[in-house]
Amino acid sequence: MYAFKDVALVTPGGVIENGVLVTEEDRIRALGPEADVPVPSQAQVIDGQGMYLAPGFIELQLNGGFGEDFTDNPDSIWRVAAQLPRYGVTSFLPTIITCGEDTLNHALRALRRGRPADFRGAVPLGLHVEGPFLNPAKKGAHNPAYITAPDARRAADWSPETGVRLVTLAPELPGAHEVIGVLRNNGVVVSAGHSMATYEEAMEAFSDGITYGTHLFNAQPPLDHRRPGLSAALLRARSVAVGIIPDGIHVHPAMVDLAWRAKGPRGLTLVTDAMAAMGMTPGEYRLGDFTVTVDETSARLADGTLAGSILTLDAALRNLMDYTGASLVEALPCVTSTPASVLGLANVGVIRAGAKADLVLLDQDGYVVLTMTGGDLFYQRGKLNEPAE
Ligand code: ZN
Repeated sequence: MYAFKDVALVTPGGVIENGVLVTEEDRIRALGPEADVPVPSQAQVIDGQGMYLAPGFIELQLNGGFGEDFTDNPDSIWRVAAQLPRYGVTSFLPTIITCGEDTLNHALRALRRGRPADFRGAVPLGLHVEGPFLNPAKKGAHNPAYITAPDARRAADWSPETGVRLVTLAPELPGAHEVIGVLRNNGVVVSAGHSMATYEEAMEAFSDGITYGTHLFNAQPPLDHRRPGLSAALLRARSVAVGIIPDGIHVHPAMVDLAWRAKGPRGLTLVTDAMAAMGMTPGEYRLGDFTVTVDETSARLADGTLAGSILTLDAALRNLMDYTGASLVEALPCVTSTPASVLGLANVGVIRAGAKADLVLLDQDGYVVLTMTGGDLFYQRGKLNEPAE
């Protein structure tokens, strides 16, 4: 049992200054102003020194990190998960890019085997399956050999129960309508991406049940005032949230600001789309079937195509503040409650009694000081990779 005291609690109803929050096992037990919430005598007390206590971050698109690529080696999911709390991430969707059926099945088995003994870290909530039903004209760093037309039989078993939480597909392709129906019926979130969809095709796909857009502006035609296309449809549709990669390279900061103004904190989720080099030094790494060259800021195929990022989610949050002028509290939903609502999850991404004790203590500038995953105190600044005492 832990008790945070002297924290600014970031709750759905606003910030509670001088707050106290008590955890019991993996849940938040009580929270409120200091005067209203007694600190249990058996609790280990953490003095927040006035800093923000926010919900743990949720990442919807992560290809790997720390030298590991999930598509190249799906067994690495748990090893990467163990290191994510250093960036404030407490749950995430491991992303498997376009690959053969064997690789995807391997990843699903790795998830279903469950956490290894003694595992501590961020929780994989199910896979983000990005491909294979993509438009070859917007393949990005996906292997065209595995890109196929939408096939409802292939998607028939994909569900949160089998380990698939979100699927990115190109909605304009023949057969996509049927696949969207199958996936929605199975409880899978369907996202439009790697697509040439026109504005009209996109709006129709939203009425078919697409509720998310994968990395807005990337791997889709540019925003054009005469042919508005998928990007404009995603910016405009209130029923659809979008992911955006705010690393300053995938999308110009001005366009991130435009997306922020159009979507607001409830329609915008920050994603890293990070690959194996996240948390590592420049060099050569894998992304799916390809070798990727990584410098100080970007990851690219030999022809210059961007191949994921090396962004971390805490840096994404600070970049959003920088690009838009939003305060930390204004920007936080983009990595907490909004990704939770995209997934339809009520017990993560929020600070309230009974929710999961996934928490991040942040300084005023958005730097991670401490992360708790499921009531387990995991990371404190200055002690990278060491369990907190
Ligand atoms: Zn992509």
